[in-house]
Amino acid sequence: MYLIFRCDCGRALYTREGVKTRRCVCGKTIKVKSRRILGKVESFQDAAYMVRKLQEEKYGPGGFLKKKIE
Ligand SMILES: [Zn+2]
Repeated sequence: MYLIFRCDCGRALYTREGVKTRRCVCGKTIKVKSRRILGKVESFQDAAYMVRKLQEEKYGPGGFLKKKIE
């Protein structure tokens, strides 16, 4: 089982259930227990997929690609 949660920097992360801390790429070490768990999934692949979805939810897919072509 994998847990999905967010760092204070807004980045979505996942970790295997039972792991106590996870280091974000922003440098912060997160206590998994202290975070609100956004989701639980069975596989590593599902966890990676959910994290990507959460990132897109927050930052938008592709970002600048949405800009109108003039
Ligand atoms: Zn972070």
